[in-house]
Amino acid sequence: MSFSGNVKSELCRTEVEKNCCALAEAMGTLLFANTFSADCIRIVTENRDFGMRLPRLFRKGLGVTFDQLPETDAVGKLTYAVNDTEKIQTVFSACGFSAQTSISLHVNFALLEKECCRRAFLRGAFLAGGSVTDPEKRYHLELSTSHLKVSRETGTLMREMELTAKETERKGSSVLYYKQSDSIEDFLTAIGAPVSAMAVMSAKIEKDWRNAANRKTNCDAANVEKAVAASQEQLAAIRKLEKSSAYESLPEKLRQTAILRREYPEMTLSELAQLHEPPISKSAVNHRMRKLLSMASEI
Ligand SMILES: [Zn+2]
Repeated sequence: MSFSGNVKSELCRTEVEKNCCALAEAMGTLLFANTFSADCIRIVTENRDFGMRLPRLFRKGLGVTFDQLPETDAVGKLTYAVNDTEKIQTVFSACGFSAQTSISLHVNFALLEKECCRRAFLRGAFLAGGSVTDPEKRYHLELSTSHLKVSRETGTLMREMELTAKETERKGSSVLYYKQSDSIEDFLTAIGAPVSAMAVMSAKIEKDWRNAANRKTNCDAANVEKAVAASQEQLAAIRKLEKSSAYESLPEKLRQTAILRREYPEMTLSELAQLHEPPISKSAVNHRMRKLLSMASEI
């Protein structure tokens, strides 16, 4: 199952206990569902747990049953529909809307005064119109609805709950979304998916750790490049000295260092220091290299 599917299944493990929350979750579901008009209510989902939750939710929250249910052995997309106009009337009045026009669709804040109900509303919205990307790939969670006003008002609700989301339009839909892992964690925790929130958090930690490791490798690569450039400069100086008479009169210590560098151009100064007989310190090698460089520059 996709990460999105796992989140929805986790959400559905929260039993619909209070009537206030059942109504709020049902309203969230309806406002983010495929179709919610005076003629038809249609909810399409691929998530079986959400599918199984819907009839219970509608009975408890709205007091209606579905007219169309998927076959018990249905695969793929599951469709739940209410076509009976009287039932739809009941649904509209339970949510506090007028069934006369679809323009009246909005977030009924009067039903969302309690924190438990606000969370339930967002849970319903996510179950019907939400998706979240696998956090191992990238961070993206969104709620999508065809009702612009509903999206705006839901955005306001999220701001009030300190779950501020960004807003955009896409193919006739209004979208509320998050791109930050910590916002996604907060949202998932608030709507009742703490296990999924933890999964986002650990994916983030793992990614950060890997990035840090990559940075370290890049840093080492930069150091290697610097070391290579220094070594080339030293070799050039040593060759220049060898071609001149100065080489013959080099002190024994300097000559030993020059010979070792010519033999091991890829080595760091510390490694080179260990090869001296007897081994010397890195700073001693560094000192000798500078001496060689300055002598070469005088030629
Ligand atoms: Zn409640």
